[in-house]
Amino acid sequence: MAIDFKTPQLSPVHYPDPQNRNSSISMLRLDTLHPEISGNKWFKLKENILHAQAMPCDTLLTFGGAWSNHLIATAAAARYSGMKSIGIVRGFHGQAMLTSTLHHCREQGMHLHFVSREDYARKNDEDYLNSLRTKFGACHIIPEGGNNAAGIIGATEIADYIPPDTNLVTVAIGTGATFCGLRNGLAQNIRLMGFTVMKNGAYLAETMKPGMHPSARNWQLCTGYHFGGFARHDQSLIRFMNDFFTTQHTPLDFVYTAKMMAGLFDLLDKGKISEPGKIVCIHTGGLQGNESIRSELAF
Ligand SMILES: *Cc1c(COP(=O)(O)O)cnc(C)c1O
Repeated sequence: MAIDFKTPQLSPVHYPDPQNRNSSISMLRLDTLHPEISGNKWFKLKENILHAQAMPCDTLLTFGGAWSNHLIATAAAARYSGMKSIGIVRGFHGQAMLTSTLHHCREQGMHLHFVSREDYARKNDEDYLNSLRTKFGACHIIPEGGNNAAGIIGATEIADYIPPDTNLVTVAIGTGATFCGLRNGLAQNIRLMGFTVMKNGAYLAETMKPGMHPSARNWQLCTGYHFGGFARHDQSLIRFMNDFFTTQHTPLDFVYTAKMMAGLFDLLDKGKISEPGKIVCIHTGGLQGNESIRSELAF
């Protein structure tokens, strides 16, 4: 695949720890990987694309909402790989109502198929997937968010960019595929903290288990920083993002990375992370989703 990716860099995050514990924070900038296929989504897609090409099959079919980072990444990755893509979109969005995300998906050649919330809820039912295969022909179906075994294997590669003397890695969790891949790829002595971005995210501790090596340990979930629920936000989150941009010159997205960073700073402020040491936060990308709240952001 001849896609031109930038090597992800670590950039320092300035954080004056009120507890004075000599910790240091840096951020792994997956957001700068590629202008269209940003962040963790590429890692989850690459093994899926190889799998499809080995079948062989020239079409990827996947699922997403109107602002989905995964849909746009799939559309672009398919196009760059010489493949077709079909996006099953939750809810109806007429041409005049198309979000910038969906508009870009179309520009990348993705065929958009809008379905009701009821049909969308069947996205993992074998019967429903077979009806999509009947409708669209042979295709490699990737679950929402790229959360399948191939996606997790691809995400283990993110661990290659984490320096071995790191003590703690933090990442935002949606489906958990990235978290599982990281846990499988990182040395066991590196602690991994995941910040769930939806209400009541504790269920992920169970749903992620099959994706992790049976011996996986040294990981934990922080479920208290959802800021109202999935893709929701409040004024404190917006203030945090705007401040973060002013002081660190790094844009965060409001759905994932801002919640993770706000959560990490809060835990550090309160002295709730014992021996934080060298911390690497993963910027998983997703900045295109900020278009949905453009007027609230100062960057
Ligand atoms: C999709 C996404 C995540 C969540 O990744 P999962 O593997 O689904 O847990 C985190 N951050 C950003 C920016 C994303 O787009």
